[in-house]
Amino acid sequence: MAQVKKNTTIKGYQDFIQRVYGENNNRSFGRRDMLINIERFATRGLKGIRKQDTKKAKFNLLISFSWLMSLMNRFNVDLENEVWKRFPYLCSYCASCPCSCKAKKVKSRQKVLVNEKKRPKTLEEFQNMFARIYPPGTRSLEHAGIHLAEEIGELAEVLLAYRGGHKEEDLKNIPLESSDVFSCFAGIFNSIGESMAKELFVIFSNNCHICKKIPCVCSFKTITEFKS
Ligand SMILES: [Zn+2]
Ligand SMILES: [Zn+2]
Repeated sequence: MAQVKKNTTIKGYQDFIQRVYGENNNRSFGRRDMLINIERFATRGLKGIRKQDTKKAKFNLLISFSWLMSLMNRFNVDLENEVWKRFPYLCSYCASCPCSCKAKKVKSRQKVLVNEKKRPKTLEEFQNMFARIYPPGTRSLEHAGIHLAEEIGELAEVLLAYRGGHKEEDLKNIPLESSDVFSCFAGIFNSIGESMAKELFVIFSNNCHICKKIPCVCSFKTITEFKS
């Protein structure tokens, strides 16, 4: 049996997704399908936010996150490392903590210096880091949701660009945009005031959250018709 622990690391969660869904993904889902599922569940999560249904929001956003992990596995990207490189306890744009983009009207991306000593260990610590960089009190939950939609759009753009020419520079943008998407998942959970890791522990307490098997044996039909 595999499960996500409350003190999971981002890497530990990514490995869990590979062990449970890697085989089924290889059989049934290409990278485009994975993006579709990231969008499919994220938008259900946004509906949860609009309807003030926190349970629906949290569940669907985390299933969207699981598809982001499947996509990262397909590209052999270690999301934890990428998130840390992009957000080393600093805003990736203004390079300060808390972010001062708005207050200082920062117009260009500043160089971020990485202090390895500050690196969070667990997923929960990463979520807390984002609460320090982007304090939830400075924006509404809806604002955080709109930001997620924007970032998924940017991920779609870089995937499309890479598909077009298979160029190195386009490939490099995929982990960057994926890190931004992750920061928005963390941001929404910070706005709701709940822990991503604790929710993942509930959803993934026993292998696949639907069939409860490892590897997942859900049929294509079960996955594509899944209601949430
Ligand atoms: Zn900033
Ligand atoms: Zn399954």
